[in-house]
Amino acid sequence: MLNGEHYELIQFHFHGQSEHTIDGVPHHLEAHFVHANAMGDRAVVGVMVSDGVENAFLAPFMSHLPNYTTIKEHKSSQTFNAVNFLPANRSYFTYPGSLTTPNCEENVTWLVFEHPVEASALQILRFRDLMPKNYRPQADIGPRRILHYQD
Ligand SMILES: [Zn+2]
Repeated sequence: MLNGEHYELIQFHFHGQSEHTIDGVPHHLEAHFVHANAMGDRAVVGVMVSDGVENAFLAPFMSHLPNYTTIKEHKSSQTFNAVNFLPANRSYFTYPGSLTTPNCEENVTWLVFEHPVEASALQILRFRDLMPKNYRPQADIGPRRILHYQD
């Protein structure tokens, strides 16, 4: 629920390195949980990933990631609860913005957690190897106001 509107999680994906920076510092990975309401407005939840212990949410993906020679689709019957990927401290930043991929529609409420979750160096490396430079360079804040909510 966001501002009284129901948003459904429609997909999640990863960027390596992060598209958001906090105090100018990017993280190794950033996950985007893309939600939409009945009107087609989007709400994207961003979660930064830093170097640390193995991430249990990412673990089931590791054995099905493609490599350079075999790009094979894997359909999973597993269910995921996105809440399991969120940091324990729920402080976040929010601002009105756009999608970061073409056609960059400007109907997105961004909600970016301040604190990263951890993943192992190997997990980070495997994801980043698959998606070299799939992040949009930083854009100007412009006239936007970024709000910060503290847990
Ligand atoms: Zn994204």
